[in-house]
Amino acid sequence: MARKIDIEILLERIEALESRLDKLDPVSKRKLPSKKDQISDIKNNLDEWAQKFPSVDIEFELLKMLDWLQANQKRKKDYKAFFRNWLRKASNSIEKEVQDVYRYIYGCSTDQNCKHQESEYKDMVIFCNKCNSQKKIIKSVRA
Ligand SMILES: [Zn+2]
Repeated sequence: MARKIDIEILLERIEALESRLDKLDPVSKRKLPSKKDQISDIKNNLDEWAQKFPSVDIEFELLKMLDWLQANQKRKKDYKAFFRNWLRKASNSIEKEVQDVYRYIYGCSTDQNCKHQESEYKDMVIFCNKCNSQKKIIKSVRA
């Protein structure tokens, strides 16, 4: 019990100290390195970013982001935070794309007894010798 109180007192002291520091030098107003330094820091740590966002091509997304910033004449205070959000969006949209991949079932409209064929492509030319015609997509299913 005594130990627990000690920790609580300690935490209170830390909190008080932090709020005093924040008054002297607020986190929100703390100066960040220049854009050049922030971007080169990102470039130097591409592996680290790749570990956090394994489905994303980090280098490509960084170029895309820099292009976007330039095209839209945007300046950011915290490029790392902006890049993190950028990658989060990119990785979400990749996951969504993967989810939306369909498989297409090809079949004959003339003879329902013909064997269906499945493909991940929707522009396949599958010919049925029995019906002497091309199989058509009769339905698509989520892969
Ligand atoms: Zn057929």
